[in-house]
Amino acid sequence: MEVAFDSWDSIPPLLPPRSRLYTLKPVGIGTPFVESLSGYIARLADAHAVSVGDLVGRELSPSASEPLIRFGPVMRLKRANSHGFHAQADAINGFGECSQKWIDALETATLQTRLRFLTLSPFDGVFSHQGVFRAKRAWCPSCYEEWQGHDAIIYDPLLWRMHLVTRCPRHLTPIADECRHCRRGSQPLAVYSRPGYCSHCQQWLGEALTPPADSSSDATPGRAVSDAKAIGELFAAAPGLRGLSLHSVVTANLRACVNAVAGGNADAFALRCHVSRSAVRCHLSQRNLPTIEVILRICCELKLPITAFLENDPHRAELYWGFARPAVEPRAAFRQPEQVRLVLLTALDEEPIPSLFEIAQRLGYKGTDRLYQVDSEICKQIVTKYRKSGRSHLWKKPGGDKISERVDIRSLLEQTLGQDQPVSAHRIAASLGYANDGYVRRKFPDLCAAIGKKLAAQGTERLKDIERVLTEALETHPIPTLQDLRKSVGYSSSSCLQLHFPELCQKILTRRRCAQQEKIAKLKNTLECLLSEIPAVSLTIVSQRTGWSRGYLKELFPEQCAALSARHRIWLHEAHEQRKMALFAEVRDAVRKLHGEGKCPSIDRVTSLLSPNALKDWKTVAAALKAARQAIEHQ
Ligand SMILES: [Zn+2]
Ligand SMILES: [Zn+2]
Repeated sequence: MEVAFDSWDSIPPLLPPRSRLYTLKPVGIGTPFVESLSGYIARLADAHAVSVGDLVGRELSPSASEPLIRFGPVMRLKRANSHGFHAQADAINGFGECSQKWIDALETATLQTRLRFLTLSPFDGVFSHQGVFRAKRAWCPSCYEEWQGHDAIIYDPLLWRMHLVTRCPRHLTPIADECRHCRRGSQPLAVYSRPGYCSHCQQWLGEALTPPADSSSDATPGRAVSDAKAIGELFAAAPGLRGLSLHSVVTANLRACVNAVAGGNADAFALRCHVSRSAVRCHLSQRNLPTIEVILRICCELKLPITAFLENDPHRAELYWGFARPAVEPRAAFRQPEQVRLVLLTALDEEPIPSLFEIAQRLGYKGTDRLYQVDSEICKQIVTKYRKSGRSHLWKKPGGDKISERVDIRSLLEQTLGQDQPVSAHRIAASLGYANDGYVRRKFPDLCAAIGKKLAAQGTERLKDIERVLTEALETHPIPTLQDLRKSVGYSSSSCLQLHFPELCQKILTRRRCAQQEKIAKLKNTLECLLSEIPAVSLTIVSQRTGWSRGYLKELFPEQCAALSARHRIWLHEAHEQRKMALFAEVRDAVRKLHGEGKCPSIDRVTSLLSPNALKDWKTVAAALKAARQAIEHQ
């Protein structure tokens, strides 16, 4: 049969999932000039021809799993139709949870998948969060102008947000943070933020600036530009670092760098790189995270690229350290292990042999740790030889006096035995310079035993006294703390009390706990009573009346405190409304009176007639006056 028509495929084609918002592509991922997330939000709002406030407050936040902005009950009451967005600081572009909720919300809305590279999230747990960002929005006017001239996308790079970046690495001109039209600075993401425009006056921020004639002549701009370039390298490397445990990579590389460059001497390394010694030590022991600034200083001093510290392959990283090593060798503080070993070997043959500490001092070290680190065997040989030389203990010198010949130990012991508070034989031996009390006990066993007996008897008496103090404390109100009790009996720590009198201490602790619980129950009652007090009291007043801090009250009774605060806020609002109504009535009367007298109800005349307690807020007075005048006109 002849086929007259083509057959139609009735299976509907598969449509890829649709995004709710435009699937705007972020600019520059994997380059130093990657866009910032706050800038991306501003660009997204611009693309939809809405303000950032409307985009975030009415679209993104309601559909996000976790609300992006906080809109309290009072604000909701006062500004029912508001989008609720207020200017945001740099948490959006930052590390961890703060930026994650924004990334999630934006990725869901736009179906983009790599928005985390617009923030510092890839470096979470690698660098310290402190002082990373600027407080205000900042931009390079030349970049804006250039992009506009080339019809390129105008956006806000993440680089401009960084506190350390003070010059544009492309134009070498200073980064601006004040609008040249209205002379105001703005928040990183404000209600009316638009890339390239001021969020206050909406004027164009771009401007073709001339770069400095010779940036190399001035050290500070040179460093500012190199810092900006280094941070840019970091951003460019971010997408390639997936799946690496960056924290351990950076620490391992820092350790390898210190070993290679300063022979493992962290202090000398810090001195050479002009960074804080404690910072280097803390980073090496992983006690805290390095700041980007410290790593930048090290890179700058050793002429290393910042990516050297992100290198996962130790062999490839070794090449960088090899490159950095000549930069530090001329300094005396750095010695390779071979050099130190040579000094040790020479000292071993010296006559008379120096002590290990003297050798360390000759090399400029504070202690002998580094010498043992290089070669513990030679060190031990030096120590043995030094001891044998007899220079270590003066009384071991041939012909030296014995301690027992210089001091009459018997009379010392007898004297202390006669005292009310005898000193133990061990302490006497130590004060004379003996390493232990063996000699004294061997020579004067009876005297030492008598002292020991007297001390033991006194100890038993003292324990009895302490037991009495503790028993008495159980009867007192309020019952004292164990800390107070240990101070009153002269112990340095309360664990001594617990050791000798566990049961008594337990009883004291239980009694204190009960007393505390009673106090808290009473406080709860007080708070509940205050909830019905008229006029409503603020949490500050509650804290003053009860003598408990606001923070502690909130921790103990979150619900009651929230109710108290809410009630106080509503009361304040109502009181204000009442005063406003009273003002309207007063103004109306005053206007009528002036009108009756044939005088113009000017604002000065009206305010002079108001009672001293009336609301003085200018805006409200003006509104009241307007309403009163209209009422008179309509009569
Ligand atoms: Zn620029
Ligand atoms: Zn402006």
